[in-house]
Amino acid sequence: MIIKGISASPGISMGKAIIKNSQATQIIKMQIGSVDKEIDRLKQGIEKSRFEIEKIYEKTLQTIGEEEAQIFQAHLLILEDVTLYDDMVGFIQREAVNADWAVQTIAKQYITLFENMADEYMSARAADIKDVSQRIIRKINQIEEWEVSEVGDAGILFAEDLTPSDTANMASSISGFVTEIGGKTSHTAIIARTLEIPAVVGVGNMLPTIQSGDYVIIDGETGIVVVNPAEETINIYKQKKQTYEEEKKALTQLIGVPSVTLDGKKIEISANMGTVDDLAGVLKFDAEGIGLFRTEFIYMESDHLPTEEEQYETYKKVAETMQGKPVVIRTLDIGGDKELSYFKLPKEMNPFLGYRAIRLCLDQTEIFMTQLRALLRASAHGNIKIMFPMISSVDELRSAKVLLEEARQSLIKEGVAYNPEMEVGMMIEVPSAAIISDILAKEVDFFSIGTNDLIQYTTAVDRMNEKLTQLYTPYHPAVLRLIKQVIDNGHRADIWVGMCGETAGDAKLIPVLLGMGLDEFSMSPSAILKARSVVNTTDSKLAACTIGTLLNQGTAEAVMGLV
Ligand code: PEP
Ligand code: MG
Repeated sequence: MIIKGISASPGISMGKAIIKNSQATQIIKMQIGSVDKEIDRLKQGIEKSRFEIEKIYEKTLQTIGEEEAQIFQAHLLILEDVTLYDDMVGFIQREAVNADWAVQTIAKQYITLFENMADEYMSARAADIKDVSQRIIRKINQIEEWEVSEVGDAGILFAEDLTPSDTANMASSISGFVTEIGGKTSHTAIIARTLEIPAVVGVGNMLPTIQSGDYVIIDGETGIVVVNPAEETINIYKQKKQTYEEEKKALTQLIGVPSVTLDGKKIEISANMGTVDDLAGVLKFDAEGIGLFRTEFIYMESDHLPTEEEQYETYKKVAETMQGKPVVIRTLDIGGDKELSYFKLPKEMNPFLGYRAIRLCLDQTEIFMTQLRALLRASAHGNIKIMFPMISSVDELRSAKVLLEEARQSLIKEGVAYNPEMEVGMMIEVPSAAIISDILAKEVDFFSIGTNDLIQYTTAVDRMNEKLTQLYTPYHPAVLRLIKQVIDNGHRADIWVGMCGETAGDAKLIPVLLGMGLDEFSMSPSAILKARSVVNTTDSKLAACTIGTLLNQGTAEAVMGLV
């Protein structure tokens, strides 16, 4: 069986399928004969859950850290809660119902209670109760457990969806994954590329057709998944895998080689990163800087809003590791597909158009100031540049700069060191910003074009929706015209213009972007050497001659043909 999905992260993996069923277990209410027997089932369910949570706690403590392990300590406390237990037992006795039905009913009451608490910390505990009660129900029904960190080696994970943190946690424990939903620029896909895990997303409803243990091949380059392939197909893919690995190896010759076009223009090829762990890839692939540090991942990894000190240490470490190379740190861009477990965002119809990123930071100034102070302090230790996300108007940019100035003043007052020359830039990822980029350019030191969002906002195509993959494309002439306009406006105001959306790493489009005059390209570390090979074999002046024709094409297909 062949399934076609969206290529999310290149490379070929072969191995056994591991299915993650994310649906909550269906519970049916039953009248039971023996109350004692049901109470016994409940006790056993709790006991088995305790054993399992203790194991996960130990493992998390050893492999991830103290803070993350605390989550499972909290789960143990819920499990040992006498009131909760008494309520469940009481319910079984009163109603003469099955144990799992009692767990579900009582847990629901507690979940509602906690969800409605005004205190954010307390309301976030509802998720823990849900998690624990689901585990007890699974144990009562002897349903096999699934833990992302426990997926065995070489397995290929199949899931309806994975959260960005699921993906980050998997690290080296799987050899590839396939999800039913999601697009190429979802953060799950981006993390997969950073971790160099082959991945295919957006394959549609396929979980029912695959069984755990099926032998599967995934081709992250073409988005193809082959289930139970014939021997000759396996051999073809083995060959393909070998060629891919060889090409990858050949590119390592470009490590240490500067990125310069044939006509002598020096280009900066930088890396995108989310967590300090990504630095290994940044160094391995010889990034010339960091073009985008998505700081929201620091917030997502934590179970509380990271303090100024915690953030300062992280930014300082990144700046020092990069030894004077530029490090563009983007302020908190939460919302959209990035959530925080401990900080509840309002439920919105359109989270990508909602209360997110700079909008949230300008509203919750305390959170923003903590980050700005940490960034400024860290700027004393390296070549840090700060960048604001999701700017859609001049007012927003000015308000952000006013707060940055306030943070600066507070440090001056305290006599704390920072770099007064630190560059301040903004992302261009909203069409309104691209359209007034001539005005915005006068107020910043650089632009970085965020095509992941710019494409979705310009063409009104959700970047996460697998049904719209054909429509979501940087080749749309409207997107390319906006990019050209932004680069020209930036250069007229004498500022540099980079790109940190996934388009920057699209080897086919790099010559076009060079022709448009883009100065900096920032991408997943694993895409850097390929990008360098394209830059070093392109004449940007020659490429520039083709841009006019390209921008006059009516369709993305026509552009693609010309490219
Ligand atoms: C972008 O929108 O292009 C971008 C780089 O930001 P993110 O992918 O984090 O939204
Ligand atoms: Mg964005």
